[in-house]
Amino acid sequence: MAENRRKPHAIFIPYPLQGHVIPSVQLAMKLASQGFTITFVNTHFIHHQTCKAQSNMDLDIFSKARASGLDIRYATVSDGLPVEFDRSLNHDQFMAALLHVLSAHVEELVGRIVRSGESVHCIIADTFFVWPSKIAKKFGLLYVSFWTEPALVYSLYYHVDLLRLNGHFGCQDRREDTIDYIPGVKAIEPKDMTSYLQESETTSVCHQIIYNSFNDARNADFTLCNTVEELEPGTLRALEDKMPYYAIGPIFPDGFIKSSVVTNLWSESDCTQWLDKNSKGSVLYVSFGSYAHVTKKDLVEIANGLALSKVSFLWVLRPDIVSSDDANPLPEEFKKEVAGRSMIIPWCSQRVVLSHPAIGGFLTHCGWNSILESTWCQVPLLCFPLLTDQFTNRKLVVEDWKTGINLSSKKLIIKEEVSNNINRLMTGESGAEFRKKVTEVKKTLENALTPKGSSTQNMAKFINDFNAKIEETAQKPKPTSNST
Ligand code: UDP
Repeated sequence: MAENRRKPHAIFIPYPLQGHVIPSVQLAMKLASQGFTITFVNTHFIHHQTCKAQSNMDLDIFSKARASGLDIRYATVSDGLPVEFDRSLNHDQFMAALLHVLSAHVEELVGRIVRSGESVHCIIADTFFVWPSKIAKKFGLLYVSFWTEPALVYSLYYHVDLLRLNGHFGCQDRREDTIDYIPGVKAIEPKDMTSYLQESETTSVCHQIIYNSFNDARNADFTLCNTVEELEPGTLRALEDKMPYYAIGPIFPDGFIKSSVVTNLWSESDCTQWLDKNSKGSVLYVSFGSYAHVTKKDLVEIANGLALSKVSFLWVLRPDIVSSDDANPLPEEFKKEVAGRSMIIPWCSQRVVLSHPAIGGFLTHCGWNSILESTWCQVPLLCFPLLTDQFTNRKLVVEDWKTGINLSSKKLIIKEEVSNNINRLMTGESGAEFRKKVTEVKKTLENALTPKGSSTQNMAKFINDFNAKIEETAQKPKPTSNST
């Protein structure tokens, strides 16, 4: 009986963005395969988009996982906005809903599950939420914070007051010299901080999310980070000194390519046949992720650089890449000019594409999942960060690991530089050197996932520590809201 009571049950709430849902689903699967019961909660919007992308409006994304024996339930909540609302076009309104409204819906759902008599032990929620520790406390649950970005980015946000105190953030005449006082971070240039930390306006809705979520994260019982100890040793050690912090990445589906859980918010185009026609390492994969926008001017310059480079390319061009009210931002002449050596599609299975032998480089916005996936596939990176953590991620790739280069040395993108850098990444001695470096870093990721590897060990340690804490918590009286 006691054994049964101890089977941990987590309510898992991912941030409702593609790049957060994907690793959250895979973490949920890993925990379920280690004996957790998971109730996974998507917003109505994410659920609706996923169903639409699959042309199956009754989709339960975990039905196959359940059929294979995992105990993963699926629930949905409102984020406060209608499902058809254009979140891409109205970004601030979307973020404001996540900041102010989503928690009320989550609280209602958690309360319902707890009151149904289900035994629930914790909330696992994205670190960027501003409310998990409060909801967890209300229902007598533990809070496991899930950080989907590098530990370096976590450290910058965690120490935002230190940045402010030292004049690198949130003041007039910001310092431009090297930042060397963040615990565990030897040195970082101001230009390599996340975009929000480089802005002079520091009261936006995203800033409020950052300040409030990192205040809340201080109350987390455990923090899981999708990184690898050997990649960020100093930063992780400093965080581990402060709190129970576990590097458990890279979090991929078993077998990497296919997952039994669908997570795409857009329908995939199949590009395998086209890739099959291209020789090994000859194709540049181009994608700016699921969320960031590119100015039309930069997009056209990149297009012209691709044309000039003569390299074959596969370009994922989301319909809202410039803006969802400008669905066709590329000049028609460009498409004609590159017709024989390119494929342009709205969305693909990126892990399938990156695993294809024809891919020899990745022009990326430097989303953290993209970097981990590309490194896993030993594909060097051409870095074009656009916002949020992407600038800091770029630093790791270009300065620390040397597995890629910048698309542009200046803010202004020009086609000649784009073309030169594509060729520098893909061909000749320089290309061979990047491939060598990325193979080394891949080995580090691979080692971390072996039975004795750091991420496997950290995951085991987390589960041990978590179970011990459940036992400890079970001895304490429950808050009254749990017993009503
Ligand atoms: N992705 C995909 N197909 C695409 C583009 C992206 O499957 O055409 C996936 C990609 O594999 C990654 C995620 O979407 O797992 C994007 O996350 P990332 O952190 O790279 O960037 P974000 O979208 O969060 O900016």
